[in-house]
Amino acid sequence: MNDRVIPLLDARRAAPIATPRPVASDGPVADTRGRYMRDLRISITDRCNFRCTYCMPKTVFGRDYPFLPRDELLSFEEITRIARIFVAHGVSKIRLTGGEPLLRRNIERLIEMLAAIPGLELTLTTNGSLLAKKARSLRDAGLQRVTVSLDALDDPTFRKMNDVDFPVAQVLEGIAAAEAAGLGPLKVNMVVKRGTNDHAILPMARHFRSSPGVAGHIVRFIEYMDVGSSNGWKLDEVVPSAEVVQLITAEMPLAAVGPNYPGEVAERWRYVDDGGEIGVISSVTQAFCASCTRVRLSTDGSLYTCLFATAGHDLRGLLRGGRSDAEIGAALGALWSARADNYSEQRAAATTSPSTALNKIEMSYIGG
Ligand code: SAM
Repeated sequence: MNDRVIPLLDARRAAPIATPRPVASDGPVADTRGRYMRDLRISITDRCNFRCTYCMPKTVFGRDYPFLPRDELLSFEEITRIARIFVAHGVSKIRLTGGEPLLRRNIERLIEMLAAIPGLELTLTTNGSLLAKKARSLRDAGLQRVTVSLDALDDPTFRKMNDVDFPVAQVLEGIAAAEAAGLGPLKVNMVVKRGTNDHAILPMARHFRSSPGVAGHIVRFIEYMDVGSSNGWKLDEVVPSAEVVQLITAEMPLAAVGPNYPGEVAERWRYVDDGGEIGVISSVTQAFCASCTRVRLSTDGSLYTCLFATAGHDLRGLLRGGRSDAEIGAALGALWSARADNYSEQRAAATTSPSTALNKIEMSYIGG
């Protein structure tokens, strides 16, 4: 366990877990801002085969980086058990992420186990590098959808951003394989960084929009965020979503569309000529903390109630400490009911960037 994880289990006594106030072990639970737990993101590996400069830069995640040893990872049985406890508290969607989730050996087995939980939407976010090989087996195991991260269509920019010289053609093959396997509707996530890939916005929009007889994919343009502490984030490298929309609409007119469901993170825009839609995710310029229903489980079983958290809570200690599902459910409910996080709102309100002051957890470990 790292030193920024708060233990929930007092190993010296077998007494029940101390909770700030009694909370039911299941059923919906609201946090201090009236937000419910809906989406669970599980990082199933902290390793990745890319070294995207804004996420896992080589300078930090080099050859000697101490990735988690195998016995610290939650097992498939532990993940499935905790997933059921989250679902009992109202989680209706689980996204497997990482690191690169397709690097986790036998991921299909984990998907089969999670897919057996009734009423759950099961999705995965991937860099697409292994998707051509795995799309069919993932679908057969019960995965419903995938989101593929892709930051540019031109090879030089893409290779430079992934920093392992990975060709864009293989990711496009993966996207095609996922679509053929029935893992759609597929979303393509592009993180936009000024001066690095902002020239790739229009080509991405053009490539993935629908045209007569050809269904496209929804591209979601994501503002570059100050997650973690290693990417050297600067505000002037953020391209505001409003600018992205303006750029696209000047060539391919867009109209705003309402959310699919309350609290949807992406703001939706449709091409007025029926070319499908795009999304923009504006966590820097338009914080959506007020409707955030996300919770994250790190690779080694720590719970994070905010992407920008500086500390997690040790659920693995409970799983491995002989606690019952009811006890773990009560601890989870207590944690959520005490949740007050609104980091992005605070960032927006700050006159100087708070990100420089905080020691935030890396996204590869906490789950993107
Ligand atoms: N390896 C998988 C992938 O590439 O999709 C899953 C993990 S990755 C951390 C999840 C998502 O987080 C990717 O879409 C990635 O682009 C995004 N991401 C990572 N760092 C980011 C940052 N600083 N700002 C915005 N998005 C970021």
